[in-house]
Amino acid sequence: MYTAAAAAAHHAYNNISRNAGNAIDTQTRSSVQELENRVEKQNLIIQTLLMLLLEKKVIHEDEFKDWMAYVDELDGVRDGRVRADKTPQTCPKCQRNNAPSAVKCQYCGEELEHDFLFRRPE
Ligand SMILES: [Zn+2]
Repeated sequence: MYTAAAAAAHHAYNNISRNAGNAIDTQTRSSVQELENRVEKQNLIIQTLLMLLLEKKVIHEDEFKDWMAYVDELDGVRDGRVRADKTPQTCPKCQRNNAPSAVKCQYCGEELEHDFLFRRPE
């Protein structure tokens, strides 16, 4: 039997669910907005650098496109983007694993090599 108490509980549950949903939506919207702001700021920096390098004739557009294709393939897939490497780095000195983005070993301080940064197109 559907009692008044059950109806009140159902009503309360719906309110809580709806509010939780709104809170998540607001938080998600805020995170997305923050990411968009960061991406747009990075776009501004990249576009400024590129325009400056072209304007000053430090690089040529064709050369830039060749390099972009080369860098695109460094992660193994030519898809117009470079995926962040999520493979842990093993320290050559103490053999312990470090975060993919680590520059120095968090355990012994040994410098970690990012050899892909120094590769050049053939
Ligand atoms: Zn180490």
